[in-house]
Amino acid sequence: MKERLQELKEEALNKVEQADTLNELQDIRVAYLGKKGPITEVLRGMGKLSKEERPVIGELANKVREAIAGELDAKKESIEARELEEKLEKETIDVTLPGRPVTVGGPHLLTSIIEEIEDLFIGMGFEVREGPEVETDYYNFEALNLPKGHPARDMQDSFYITEELLMRTHTSPVQARTMGKFQGSKPVKMICPGKVYRRDTDDATHSHQFTQVEGLYVDRNVRMSDLKGVLNRFAKQMFGEEREIRLRPSFFPFTEPSVEMDISCKVCHGEGCSVCKGTGWIEILGGGMVHPRVLEMAGYDPKEYTGFAFGMGPERIAMLKYGVDDIRHFYTNDVRFLKQYHKA
Ligand SMILES: [Zn+2]
Repeated sequence: MKERLQELKEEALNKVEQADTLNELQDIRVAYLGKKGPITEVLRGMGKLSKEERPVIGELANKVREAIAGELDAKKESIEARELEEKLEKETIDVTLPGRPVTVGGPHLLTSIIEEIEDLFIGMGFEVREGPEVETDYYNFEALNLPKGHPARDMQDSFYITEELLMRTHTSPVQARTMGKFQGSKPVKMICPGKVYRRDTDDATHSHQFTQVEGLYVDRNVRMSDLKGVLNRFAKQMFGEEREIRLRPSFFPFTEPSVEMDISCKVCHGEGCSVCKGTGWIEILGGGMVHPRVLEMAGYDPKEYTGFAFGMGPERIAMLKYGVDDIRHFYTNDVRFLKQYHKA
């Protein structure tokens, strides 16, 4: 029996020495030290031994076990250390490589311009209101003095969803909704920024989806001179104190009289040059006195209340302010273009 145990010990230690992986070690552990292993088997046969021999063999068997277990542990440690080293070697970081640049985003140019316009009008006592982009025919047209069949509806080719629902063609319905809510109970002084949609072929100056900011001031004794004053302040603050404005008569169904506003050309200051096509002026926005019919439909008595309204395209404002030559730049989202306008 002693010889058998010695044999097993040598055999096991030999295998441990040759083992190369943790899995192999585990197999050896199970094979030699497990309950079904040869050492356990030797111990089972101890019943046949004499009383004197039993403790001697028992002690020897334990020593053999300990020796094998000890070697297994030592080998395990050395394999683990080797694997760790290999792993570290593989994952070495080359600290001399240049780092990847961290890019910082910023607001889109249109977002910045709209916020600038909002700040400017908030400073003059206007509040900012928003409304749905999917609008009813009533608020988009009828409430703004554009009944069904009105020829001026053709000026705004629309995306209809159903007979009565469409993508709003301007932000004016927000004004109609706000006035309609108050029903003549109080003055309204608001601007409404937002996206609008028209069936248009996209080119350098047209887009089927663009943004608008419209303004409305309804109160007792609101006059055309108030509109001129507000727009003059807007133009100077947005484009520079040296810029002049002029109002030209125009037509919109929801205002009467209607005007278009120009500002003096930045390049020639009114002399005439290629930028302003020789006129000295550049068209900026439209507006006018709210049509009595529009006031009436929203529950405001036109004999008591008057108001002015105006509307502008933030794309056009941004194009004029920064010399952007194509409206599509705002929507193709080339970061090389957008990045130029990020404020530090
Ligand atoms: Zn000019």
